[in-house]
Amino acid sequence: METAEIRRRFTAHFAAAGHTVVPSASLLLDDPNLLFVNAGMVPFKPYFLGQETPPYTRATSVQKCIRTPDIEEVGKTTRHGTFFEMCGNFSFGDYFKEGAIELAWDLVTKSQADGGFGLDESVLYPSVLDGDEEAVSLWKRITGLPDDRIVRLPAKENYWSMGVPGPGGPCSEILIDRGPAFGADRDWDAGDRYLEFWNLVFMQDELSAVRSKSDFDIAGQLPKKNIDTGMGLERVAYLLQGKNNMYETDVVFPVIEKAMELTGKKYGANPEDDVRFRVVADHIRSSLMLINDGVTPGNEGRGYVLRRLARRVIRNMRLLGYEDPALRELLPVSRDRMGQTYTELFDNYDRILNVANAEEDAFRKTLTSGTQIFDLAAADVKKTGATTFGGDKAFQLHDTYGFPIDLTLEMAAEAGLSVDEQGFRSLMAEQRERAKADARAKKGGHADLTVYRGILDSNGPTEWLAYTTLETESR
Ligand code: ATP
Ligand code: MG
Ligand code: MG
Ligand code: MG
Repeated sequence: METAEIRRRFTAHFAAAGHTVVPSASLLLDDPNLLFVNAGMVPFKPYFLGQETPPYTRATSVQKCIRTPDIEEVGKTTRHGTFFEMCGNFSFGDYFKEGAIELAWDLVTKSQADGGFGLDESVLYPSVLDGDEEAVSLWKRITGLPDDRIVRLPAKENYWSMGVPGPGGPCSEILIDRGPAFGADRDWDAGDRYLEFWNLVFMQDELSAVRSKSDFDIAGQLPKKNIDTGMGLERVAYLLQGKNNMYETDVVFPVIEKAMELTGKKYGANPEDDVRFRVVADHIRSSLMLINDGVTPGNEGRGYVLRRLARRVIRNMRLLGYEDPALRELLPVSRDRMGQTYTELFDNYDRILNVANAEEDAFRKTLTSGTQIFDLAAADVKKTGATTFGGDKAFQLHDTYGFPIDLTLEMAAEAGLSVDEQGFRSLMAEQRERAKADARAKKGGHADLTVYRGILDSNGPTEWLAYTTLETESR
């Protein structure tokens, strides 16, 4: 089943059940804690927080999402992209656990002839928050599954909050067993074996404190209980297309095919190259969608994320043996696929291409000299018998040659070295302090957003800056 058809069926299913169809919001919503929209519920936050009254009680959307904390997973697991689309249904004080479970289970298991996804019940495992017996009995009654097919998971996996006082509640996921090739029997942490493809959040609690994913205080029940669900469009697509991972779907794989054509290498021939192909396909799509929504490369915040993604494409294409400008070759392939849904990509394409080309030209200028500096420095380190690449050198590469730290990390790993990241980050922080002091001197001392940049430097880029550490904990 094509991705477009999965999207259509999801939307039609919830529209038929009285949900207002809401188009995807931009990836860039104004939210001080959020670099990018990273879940379907984000545009609805004012409703969930009770700040605004929703014009409907039921809504459904397919929301563009960016999750940079997942960047290290890309291409290594079968299921993480930096860009993905989250299909969601939302209830604002309307149906609750029972309705949410019924609606999801129906779509997932209904035959394809009847408009569903037709997934085989015998490999599906609902998960609940350990202790949420209400959810257990609903799942058993609605699905007819025996008790031992309902997986009880701890709060770390199955309790949702925003990392701050406010709404919270247990989650319930639908996992699909992809078989022993992907992990051990009943090892729920083997995320590629028991693939989570749909997460239902039962927003019911008022939290007075949140110290970590599994340590929070429930002050009471919310006056109005809400439902927030997210189903990964790509995950369902690769399941229904019989593919191994989210980079091989009808929407993403054409970029891998183009990369094969450019590099002359074969996808599937060598595991290291395969990761590179998948990184290229994923990052091309996220770069395309970020530029489309108005991001331009830079050294701060959103621009830095885009820069990092685009430069990783270029770098991985080089590792695959392709040294010519790559973005202009790959972007149109992604545009043609994504443009079927986001038709504005065609109108915006000239602008997108200009931004991408300027970034690639700039990076290409520094890449050669930076690589030389890196090689010399790495050789020096090795001569002394040490195994750590200096934080000062990493800083110099970043500062003078625009090397994102992850590029230096990757190159160091290839050379069998580690990097003094702590040293690098403190030099970055010092530089940031100097820049801030300069800016204050110039502007007469008013606060600016560089405070977030400090968090970014010490933790790496993430969306929910407020709970960076929690996000990296999650699997
Ligand atoms: P995982 O445990 O696999 O990292 P998650 O628990 O972080 O997923 P949720 O925050 O519950 O994911 O998001 C809802 C759904 O969105 C997931 O069930 C999944 O189908 C999809 N999803 C989440 N992160 C990604 C990603 N990086 N790439 C593709 N799909 C994703
Ligand atoms: Mg989840
Ligand atoms: Mg999860
Ligand atoms: Mg995750």
